[in-house]
Amino acid sequence: DAVESTPAIVIGSGYGGAVAALRLGEAGIRTLVLEMGRLWNTTGPDGKVFCSTAAPDHRSMWFRTRTEAPLATFLWLDVVNKDISPYPGVLDRVHYDHMSVYVGRGVGGGSLVNGGMAVTPLQSYFAEQFPTVDTAEMYRTYFPRARSMLGVNTVDPAWFESTEWYRFTRISRKHASNAGLKTTFVPNVYDFGYMEREAAGSATKSALAGEVIYGNNHGKRSLDQTYLASALGTGNVTIHTLERVRSISRAADGTYVLAVDRLDDTGAVVETKEYGCTYLFLGGGSVGTTELLVRARESGTLPALDAGVGTGWGTNGNVMLGRANHLWDTVGANQATMPVMGIDDWANTANPVFAEIAPLPTGLEHWVSLYLAITKNPERASFSYDSATGAVKLGWSAAQSAVSVGMAKKLFDRINRANTTIYRYDLFGSGNKVFADDFTYHPLGGCVLGKATDDYGRVKGYSRLYVTDGSLVPGSIGVNPFVTITALAERTMARVLVEDTAP
Ligand code: FAD
Repeated sequence: DAVESTPAIVIGSGYGGAVAALRLGEAGIRTLVLEMGRLWNTTGPDGKVFCSTAAPDHRSMWFRTRTEAPLATFLWLDVVNKDISPYPGVLDRVHYDHMSVYVGRGVGGGSLVNGGMAVTPLQSYFAEQFPTVDTAEMYRTYFPRARSMLGVNTVDPAWFESTEWYRFTRISRKHASNAGLKTTFVPNVYDFGYMEREAAGSATKSALAGEVIYGNNHGKRSLDQTYLASALGTGNVTIHTLERVRSISRAADGTYVLAVDRLDDTGAVVETKEYGCTYLFLGGGSVGTTELLVRARESGTLPALDAGVGTGWGTNGNVMLGRANHLWDTVGANQATMPVMGIDDWANTANPVFAEIAPLPTGLEHWVSLYLAITKNPERASFSYDSATGAVKLGWSAAQSAVSVGMAKKLFDRINRANTTIYRYDLFGSGNKVFADDFTYHPLGGCVLGKATDDYGRVKGYSRLYVTDGSLVPGSIGVNPFVTITALAERTMARVLVEDTAP
């Protein structure tokens, strides 16, 4: 078959892919974005684009017969997950031996399913993680650019203090403060003006209707409304959906050749295509991009890739847990799904933790305080290739997760002691599991900046091949990662468009 040729191809339409697509399009370079998920713009039989969290249907998860929600049980009961029919749904859970990774699937990647928390890391920790990057320039130019493009805003503190929808957060703040811990507001890309109208009854509820991990029908400024809309607006960018890149190789003239499977709604491969390009940008996310490059090196299609490809992966120290409150400390039946506050104990060098105060919107009072702890876990893992099956495996171990748990436990033991409270044992399966340490929302690394690539994301061993996504971040960034991923991608594109694409 003839190879369809384009000057530039971007794999994936999450943060890294969306930034690359926009900046290429603005520079007048014709660009094709290949996204394995679907475009989320058509309504189902219920008149909505995304299904609800309480009654998930086929739209919820990526080719599953049953949902796999992070919080699996309530009062040890299997009441959360539901049987569904296979479909290219919006949330995927990628399983490795001792760790599974939640990712978004669709035009917009993780922005479709995430909690919208838009946090700029502590400058000193960014400098520690990226010693070769000009930190001052990042905080002067690329972080502000990313925040403004993403539409970051903050909750009105007065409204926060008075609304029933954030009572759960205020209770957790009180308990942290009783333990002598400090809390901080966390910005978000959810439109808080819209949320206030939801609360007032003048706008259709989304964050106030439990919507988040299977998509928000309103209010959230996901990438399809920001970077990707602008990219399409340049007239130079095209997005192909339900097209999954299977392999990357290089033609004799130095251009790249991609083998791509086009999927239908049942997951069947209905066509295999070949695309060619001069410039190739990888934005498939930490596990998507790393798997593609590890396979390319080990199967010999890109043999000169650096040994650093497939290393330096971490979970951003993620651990989820719940505490049981006293009967008088009600958290409220009404809870907004967008977190707005974190317990900030990162400066505690003996045990650095940043813990997001997370909602548990069941519509009933349940006295649970839920948290997503980001711990400074120094453990890293590598990916390996199984030549017999073609599968890429992740070498993360249960012992490496135990390091995150130990750190989260130290902080929350302290909070429980100060408030004479205990943990909840009923939320993460039948085994009385307190700490959910077998999944992450924040996969980071695999093609670390300055290791697998040069200091700007140019992949070592090849020219005109770039990584722009979360695989550049060395396993930990101390806060929720998408602002960092976006800002680094902006920095890469600014450099590459000046230095690499001049005629
Ligand atoms: P992604 O956003 O993962 O995008 C990669 C895209 O590439 C996907 O659309 C994928 O389908 C596509 N793709 C992958 N492989 C291929 C292939 N071979 N062919 C074609 N397409 C491919 N972060 C925050 O900062 N704040 C939060 O509040 C937050 N909450 C989260 C909540 C959840 C439930 C989840 C899952 C994540 C959350 N995150 C949050 C993490 C954040 O969403 C990710 O860090 C971010 O999306 C990563 O961006 P990325 O560009 O690296 O890749």
